[in-house]
Amino acid sequence: MARIGVLAIQGDVEAHLAALGRLGADGRRVLWERDLKDLDGLVLPGGESTTIAKGLARQGLVQPLRAFAEAGKPVLGTCAGAILLARESRNHPVETLDLLDAVALRNAYGTQVDSFSAAVDPGAAPGLEGLRCVFIRAPQLEDLGPQVDVLARVDDRPVLVRQRNVLACTFHPELTPDARVHELLLCR
Ligand code: GLN
Repeated sequence: MARIGVLAIQGDVEAHLAALGRLGADGRRVLWERDLKDLDGLVLPGGESTTIAKGLARQGLVQPLRAFAEAGKPVLGTCAGAILLARESRNHPVETLDLLDAVALRNAYGTQVDSFSAAVDPGAAPGLEGLRCVFIRAPQLEDLGPQVDVLARVDDRPVLVRQRNVLACTFHPELTPDARVHELLLCR
């Protein structure tokens, strides 16, 4: 059974644990460096990236998370988690982990009331066709480096990308019954 950690500082932790459980994975909360031991993968959930970044620093988790990803373990950042993976957050600065060669634009679609859901554009990577994405004060990813593959777009903008073992989506895959994004984490 795959052991997948969910960073539990703030954000949509329970829904990710439930989604992982539905896939038969053993989801575990991560708050301390020792929680990373023996994990096969890690989710950085959506929430508030400023709060999560402060928590990462306070918990001494910045270097351990970098080392975890740099060891090749799969990491999925969703929404605020994607912001934290980016090399930089351009409009509202936040201390990022710099594990994904992309720039995040926070709240790029507007405020909470501008939240929406949409299906991915035709031409998504095989197996991801028709995926429905829930965007909540979502970021956009720009200036993708050459090693970043776009797996899915909405309105022509990248919403799900991969750089080797690092996956990032600007939406909330834990809020729909569709398990395909979490499966990407397990299939590596
Ligand atoms: N707007 C949040 C941020 O910039 C992200 C929102 C989310 O994760 N749903 O951190």
